[in-house]
Amino acid sequence: ASALLELKDMEVAFTIGKRAYPALQQISFKVEEKETVGIVGESGCGKSLTSLSVMGLLPETAAMTKGGIILNGQPMEPASSEGWSTVRGKQVSMIFQNPMSALNPLMPVGKQIAEMAMTHLSVSKQEAKRLAMEMMAKVGLSRVERLYDDYPHQLSGGMMQRIMIAMALICSPKLLIADEPTTALDVTIQGQILDLLRDMNRSIGTAILFISHDLGVIREVCDRVIVMYAGYIVEDAPVAEILDHPKHPYTVGLLQSLPSADKRGRPLYTIPGRVPSITDRGPGCPFAGRCPSATDLCESVTPELSQVAAGHQVRCHLYANGGRVI
Ligand code: SF4
Ligand code: MG
Repeated sequence: ASALLELKDMEVAFTIGKRAYPALQQISFKVEEKETVGIVGESGCGKSLTSLSVMGLLPETAAMTKGGIILNGQPMEPASSEGWSTVRGKQVSMIFQNPMSALNPLMPVGKQIAEMAMTHLSVSKQEAKRLAMEMMAKVGLSRVERLYDDYPHQLSGGMMQRIMIAMALICSPKLLIADEPTTALDVTIQGQILDLLRDMNRSIGTAILFISHDLGVIREVCDRVIVMYAGYIVEDAPVAEILDHPKHPYTVGLLQSLPSADKRGRPLYTIPGRVPSITDRGPGCPFAGRCPSATDLCESVTPELSQVAAGHQVRCHLYANGGRVI
């Protein structure tokens, strides 16, 4: 059977002046049905751009210049917005960091969920309202009859994120893309939303592509994680494998910068340097400028992804040829 989502050697480039600058290169990965996959990396690594590609929502100055996306066995035409709009909502839904920007401030929140159901499920108004209230309860909102008529500004950030999740899931999409959905929330509420997403994955079976700069958050929700750096996938492995046996020097740095009990009271590690901007990416390994293990080879030759264990791929010269260290 084919994967729910497959990205095949996708390249996305921005046009600045007369030049095209690749922002994503050689992006290949699959998400199977019901799977939970995380994408982690600092900002500027291409996580959000990858998710926008999957939604067919690339910014106007960007274009898919190579490869493609196959959703549920259907190749998605990069240019056809019509093809995408039939897919959005029903097959793929998305939630964002800031629900306020995605909700209509002038419409009661319950009605916004119901309208989603009416648009995509061709149900009556009454049935849509019933489904909306049912979904509001499912995402852990209480007193939904009253809440149905509330406006976004009357809700807390955590409640609004639950409304967004209800809206995203009302049409039972096969894939939910969550882009930093808890970054703006305080730690307690963040934990509750992560629990909710995991529950929804188990009970409804929606696959989740979860995007975060925080590996600690991804660990809570995902089975597998893809590490991105400067527009490339640099490591792809089951979460447990990444936590126990990180290979790529960038992944090692991300793990070192996670807070943990034994590091309490000490300043958190941060990887020195910064992600090169898209106009500033030369040949060689994109991480070479920040990597403690870089050699001359790294400066001139971009490493390929290579398999180091079952389901574990790394893009680093140290692990070329199946993991034999050079
Ligand atoms: Fe570091 Fe070289 Fe590996 Fe890049 S290829 S991560 S620079 S060791
Ligand atoms: Mg982002």
